[in-house]
Amino acid sequence: MASAAAQGSTFGGPLNPPRESVVDRFLRYVRVETQSSETSTSRPSTSSQWTLANQLAEELRQLGAANVRVSEFCMVYATLPSNLPVSQANGIPTIGFLAHVDTSPAVTGANVNPIIHRDYRGGDIVLPADPAQVITMAQNPDLAKMIGDDIITTDGTTLLGSDDKSGVAAIMTLVDTLIANPQFQHGPIAIGFTSDEEIGAGIDNFDVEGFGADFAYTVDGGGLGELNSETWSARQATVTFHGKSVHPGTAKGVMVNAVYALADFLSSMPRDMLPETTEGRVGFVHPYAGVADVEESSIKVLLRDFEMTGLDAKEKLLRELAAATERKFAGVTVHVDVKENYKNMNEVLRHHPELIENAFEAARRAGVEPFIEPIRGGTDGSKLTFRGLPCPNIFTGGYNFHGKLEFNSRRGLEKTTETLVHLVQVFAERRQRPTGA
Ligand SMILES: [Zn+2]
Repeated sequence: MASAAAQGSTFGGPLNPPRESVVDRFLRYVRVETQSSETSTSRPSTSSQWTLANQLAEELRQLGAANVRVSEFCMVYATLPSNLPVSQANGIPTIGFLAHVDTSPAVTGANVNPIIHRDYRGGDIVLPADPAQVITMAQNPDLAKMIGDDIITTDGTTLLGSDDKSGVAAIMTLVDTLIANPQFQHGPIAIGFTSDEEIGAGIDNFDVEGFGADFAYTVDGGGLGELNSETWSARQATVTFHGKSVHPGTAKGVMVNAVYALADFLSSMPRDMLPETTEGRVGFVHPYAGVADVEESSIKVLLRDFEMTGLDAKEKLLRELAAATERKFAGVTVHVDVKENYKNMNEVLRHHPELIENAFEAARRAGVEPFIEPIRGGTDGSKLTFRGLPCPNIFTGGYNFHGKLEFNSRRGLEKTTETLVHLVQVFAERRQRPTGA
């Protein structure tokens, strides 16, 4: 197996190839339709997710993983015991790895027909079944770094499902590789495959305690090297303006039209603090849906920032702007109601710097240059982190999630897997030493 031999290159010794390469696994998994559904009320939201979940459980059993089970919520759990001598196993934490089996409802994920563009020579990639679908170098600058790689796309009619079957394939190949290579010493490992991630409905049914890990990595990220330990801290405000409605024919001196107060408030939003004018680490306020009515007008506003102080400042500003509007419109009263959505997982992860440090080390050993990128959104990991399972996110090599232009590559999948194989060894090495990091 050429790819397996290539995978051995950063391990400083001969490697027993896994039973199946990560690329072959990936190509097999993307052909299993697993879209979740936003409109369904059953859990999991679609019965198709059971197919892949049960298949993964069976494959884990065949590989020799322990405690394999599929929960009533379509979550797959398994463990791999430590292979260290008992005398050295003390103090080695249990590492969890998580990926989700469902794919986005945004674009159809049925009948996925993966296309391998072998030995990519540069240039735009036209998808064969729909020539209007083109992966351009202009919009995908990382393609320039992928010359000579085998790029994996769809035929242009579906999404690929790299999000997150890349993560699933990498974790399965990690298990396969560790069992085939007992010379790779590792502590206890917990494996979890989740359902309904894309509709934000699955993770509440994840059994953190039963999973049994001290911390975990979601393998659900972007291009090679990108690690995520930060999400937004997020609040949602509803600002309501109360007026007074009477028949317009007899309204003189009586009507108080709340629509104008709403308009005044919206026009006072600072232009440099909106999603359409911010990027990177800069947070925003985002009025996104509302009701304009004489008696009562209201607007919902998203507040986002990476820092709690920044989020507090945005909430304070919002309240000040609402109060200023209230002063301008006699007879109008304003109510501001704010609720917490989720918090930046870095509030917890910054107390566990070794999780990112060790991931950096593992990526470098795999020949990948790691970097940190904040996520301008929330993840399942942020919820798990605040439920007691610190959970940064690792790259998968994939790009253009949730669309027909989604792609990954042979190197992307292999280097992701290799990083995971190094990562469990880094933890074993560093925790074995009494003065370890
Ligand atoms: Zn995902």
